[in-house]
Amino acid sequence: MTIEQLYNIYLQHRSVQTDTRKLKANDIFFALKGDNFNGNTFAAKALEMGAAFAVVDEAAYFTHPDRMMLVDNVLETLQALALWHRKQLNIPFLAITGTNGKTTTKELINASLSAGFKTYATIGNLNNHIGVPLTILGISSDVEIAVIEMGASHQQEIASYCTIALPTHGIITNIGKAHLEGFGSEEGVKKAKGELYDYLRANNGTVFVCNDYPYLMEMSKGISKVITYGSKDADYTGTPAADKALIGVQITSNSTIGFIQTKLTGSYNFPNVMAAVAVASHFNVPVEKIGPAIANYTPSNNRSQVIQQGTNTIIMDAYNANPSSMKAAIDNFVGIDATRKVLMLGAMMELGTDSIREHEALVEQLQRHHWEAVVLVGGDFKKVNHPYIFLENSAEAAQWLQQQQFQDTYILIKGSRSTGMEKVIA
Ligand code: ATP
Ligand code: MG
Repeated sequence: MTIEQLYNIYLQHRSVQTDTRKLKANDIFFALKGDNFNGNTFAAKALEMGAAFAVVDEAAYFTHPDRMMLVDNVLETLQALALWHRKQLNIPFLAITGTNGKTTTKELINASLSAGFKTYATIGNLNNHIGVPLTILGISSDVEIAVIEMGASHQQEIASYCTIALPTHGIITNIGKAHLEGFGSEEGVKKAKGELYDYLRANNGTVFVCNDYPYLMEMSKGISKVITYGSKDADYTGTPAADKALIGVQITSNSTIGFIQTKLTGSYNFPNVMAAVAVASHFNVPVEKIGPAIANYTPSNNRSQVIQQGTNTIIMDAYNANPSSMKAAIDNFVGIDATRKVLMLGAMMELGTDSIREHEALVEQLQRHHWEAVVLVGGDFKKVNHPYIFLENSAEAAQWLQQQQFQDTYILIKGSRSTGMEKVIA
């Protein structure tokens, strides 16, 4: 059986699944392998459960030749099928990568583009070697613009996603410190994320670039169409304004859009908002719809959320953390006009040999300000000297918070995904 034949089966059902726990009737099941599981062993069960078809890569599990395809590598077949589908779709594909703010930028762009088009965007954070092809295979034939989040922790990942998604447009949100274990250095991060620009440079693409970041302007040289956004001298300009915790943006390049009051906390969301203004404007979304679409976007999933608890204001940013986003979150917190501020920070993971130094740098940043209380949780916070409260995990942190009698206090909660800092207020 060829990819083309598999594609015809896909066209009959239009739904692929890699997890039998989420299987629906008539899905096409792809038997992927992970470190701790072999999807092949579930393939027959998937058919029993109502899957229309299964793709396996071990002959021993090729038990239903009429409803199975035996391939060399299921993952590569999934990716090849996604590419085949991509090639049938003659629509703009906007790829988004960068160190921080990919999902938020993707959601804001999707919200603003949806005001003028039928769009399809990556669901949640499905941004890896499985998520990117699954996202592409989720795009129906009536979709007018696709928005694809691409994450990376190694070189050549973004390049390989580009060969499946064939993006026509791209955004690198920013370059910062994350996944240093895989990238080696910030220079390594630049090279890896820059693979999106490299693809678009070679394929006559369009990029949206925040010109407040000179390194992005430098990296994007030679791309045939560069559209800029930022705080000044850009195609799309705006000025951030913070009203206590939530940020607003005054669009200065287009008075019809005017002021956008967001539901996001963090001045670091300014470029994310501007990216959405730039993309929606570029694609000619009716201009009066752009501001409201962005203003109405409500973050979920513990990203840049503001939660009111009695007289206290919780800034819930516990979705993840790395040195750059930690610094940005603390800078932002410093800027909030409030008397009592408490920090509850989980450790940062995946920093390799830089880990201790980065945690020390964070402690130094904290010591420059006065805080009502600082609680540092888990990981390498245990190994660095600091004058703050140290707790082993988020359960202890939750207990600690319950015992306090805070009033009229702002509490910032943030940490790497595995520290589970969102449980502090659960
Ligand atoms: P992941 O790598 O997990 O997919 P992501 O790049 O999709 O992350 P988001 O999920 O949008 O990023 O945001 C995660 C956190 O990064 C936010 O909660 C916020 O703290 C921080 N962040 C968001 N945007 C920016 C930005 N432009 N600059 C710095 N930090 C940001
Ligand atoms: Mg993301």
